[in-house]
Order: sequence, then structure tokens, then C-alpha cells
Amino acid sequence: MINKHMQKLGEERSEIRELFEYGARRKAEIGAENVFDFSLGNPSVPAPPCVNGEILRLIAETPAETLHGYTSAAGAPEVRKAIADEVRRAFGVPLPPDLVYMTCGAAASLTAAVHALAEEGDEFIAVAPFFPEYRVFTEAAGAKLVAVRAGGDFHLDLAALEGAIGRRTKAVIVNSPNNPTGAVYTEAEMRALGALLRKKSAEKGEPIFLLADEPYRELCYGAPPVYPMNVYDDVIVCYSYSKSLSLAGERIGYVAVSPRCTAAEKVFAAVAGAGRALGFVCAPVLFQHVVARCAGKSADVEEYRKNRDLLWNALRSYGYECVLPEGAFYLFVKSPEPSAAAFCARAKKHELLLVPSDSFGVEGYVRISYCVDRKIIERSLPAFEALRREYDR
Ligand code: PLP
Repeated sequence: MINKHMQKLGEERSEIRELFEYGARRKAEIGAENVFDFSLGNPSVPAPPCVNGEILRLIAETPAETLHGYTSAAGAPEVRKAIADEVRRAFGVPLPPDLVYMTCGAAASLTAAVHALAEEGDEFIAVAPFFPEYRVFTEAAGAKLVAVRAGGDFHLDLAALEGAIGRRTKAVIVNSPNNPTGAVYTEAEMRALGALLRKKSAEKGEPIFLLADEPYRELCYGAPPVYPMNVYDDVIVCYSYSKSLSLAGERIGYVAVSPRCTAAEKVFAAVAGAGRALGFVCAPVLFQHVVARCAGKSADVEEYRKNRDLLWNALRSYGYECVLPEGAFYLFVKSPEPSAAAFCARAKKHELLLVPSDSFGVEGYVRISYCVDRKIIERSLPAFEALRREYDR
């Protein structure tokens, strides 16, 4: 009667959503200031002023039928041009506007890109821990997700990747800065990945794509990540403004196919075709224009850095084990007991809402989203300390 796979997806528990809803109920019971909700990756730093400024300007300047009407499926030409210009300016890549496809955020960018590439029997490799929706998106496209464990400090394990890439590999998905670990891959490791993919593509006799999931690109505390199109040719960038401009609820992003990609126009056509098949007509028009006009701007990453430093230093002093995040706004902390779920249940008793790592494809860790008001972090520290002390007894 109905598609069982879709029914299962709809009924599946989402640990993160459940925690978030539990948090909302608990806040109503004991007061928002007493619940330390670190569950969601919802940006806490406001969108930069250009966003509201451009929204108001667009409303004042644009006739309503243009402002709210359809654009062409791939996006408004001037928006695609502004994005291509920004990629050229920032990274030196001669990206033509014709290879930019506007989407409803990174989730839509990824589904369109995965559907564009996936053929019967294909495998997509992801570095574990990984964003849980990668499995949903690849399986919905009829492909298989192959998880390869990250190496030291959650960076790439190139030997493990080499072992996993085979004749069925269609693409490797990389996400840097990373959710949930905060790792930012170095230029050297990205170049080594590019070299590995070139070698494996030659062995396979057709390109193995690099899908670069980039919603956190600008949220970086050290040197900015190398642009993937500058280390490898068969690259599809899945970008979003959800985190960089704090526009998560507005659903706006894009897919960019590298101009150096094999048969780039055909790959782009497949992305557009996938978008069509998935029912994306065009991305939200007001926000297409807003992001085009805010090109090169981002939310204040220093605010996230202060949160990171406060929380990381405190947790380490209490005896927690966690690698210093180099980007994004997550701490990936080792659970002091083997079961992350059991640790999270204990944390809940201290009103700390943490996400167990199992859905990210590894066991024994928790994710703490520190994109929250700094006062919540300050108030939560005694709870984190008391929780850790329970393991000293
Ligand atoms: N990829 C990663 C790694 C993410 O963390 C997220 C959202 O948290 C997404 C993709 C989806 O982003 P968007 O909200 O732009 O669809």
C-alpha cells in the first residue's frame, strides 16, 4: 500500500529531535535557564546585519510579483553569477554561473548531488563519525553508504580510505569543518585525498567524485580549509548558508560542479534533473537574492570560538577527554563509560542534554552543540563537573 522504506524513515526515532522536544518540555517545567540543551546545531549567533538590511532593501525595491515569483529551476541568473564570482574571488576557481544550482540548504544540495550520481550497486564512502543523514540520502538514491573510520584526532585515515575504495565506489563524501567532531582537514591531507582519488579513478576507469559537504566552511578557528576544487577535479561542492549566515530555517544553499570535473555540463544536468525528480522547483527566491547580496559575509565566528574555549577548557579540567575543535560548533567528547546512551541518560539527570554518537556511526562518544547562549554554558559547568565526579567513585 505504501513504500515501507519511507514509512520506516518516518517512524524512526530521531534521537536529536526527541532530545530537543524533551528539552522544550523540561524548560516549561523548570525554567529555560535550568535546562542545558546542547542537542541541536541551530546557530546561536545572529545573522550578520547585511541579511536583515538586504531583506528590507529587497522588499522596498522589488515589485512583489518578482520578489515572490518563481525563478528558473536552477536559480535566478544574477544570483548564480554572484555566487560564481565569489567562488572565483575567494578561491581562484573559474566557476561559470552555469554550474551553480540553487537549493534549499545543504540537505537538498546533498540529495540532489547523490541522486545525480547514484546508479544501481554504487557505494558512497563517508568518514565516520558522519552526519547521520548521509545514510538516509544515499540509501534513498538506491546506493549504499560505506563508513570508514576517521584516524587520529578525527582527521582522514588515508590508508583506511584506500582500502575501502573499490570498483563500486561512486564518491567519497567529506565534511570539513566537521559535524560532529569539529575537525578541519589540512591542505596536505586534502591533497593526499585528491591524489588517492586520481589513482583510484584511473584504476576504475571512470571518475570517483569528491562530494564536499561545506555548510561550516566559514566557521573555522585556524587557517581556512583548502577549497576542494583546488585539490581535485571531479568535485561537487554542496554548500549552504544555514550556518555561515545563521539562516538554517530559511533553507538556502547551492550545488557547484567544478569546471574541471569530467563532463561537467552533463554532471550539472544530472544535478538539475535530480532536483526536478525530487520536486525542487527553485530555491526560496527572497533568500536567493539575500545571499547573493551578502556574498563573502558570515556570522561572527569569534562568538563560537569563545563558547568553544570556555567549554573545552572546563571539560578538560574536569577530566573529560575531547579533541579541541578546529571549526564548526560541536565538541565530540569521549563517554566516561562504554555506552554513550547510558552516559547521556545520567547527563539528563543533571539537566544536560547531549547526543550519543551511535547515529554518527561510532560508539562511545557524545556530541555537544555549543551554538548556545554563553550564559547557558556558564551555568552548565557545575553540572558537567558533578556528572564527571560520578565516575570517580
Ligand atoms: N551537512 C552537515 C554536516 C550538517 O551538519 C548539516 C546540518 O546540520 C547539513 C548537512 C544540512 O544542512 P542544511 O540545514 O543547510 O540543510
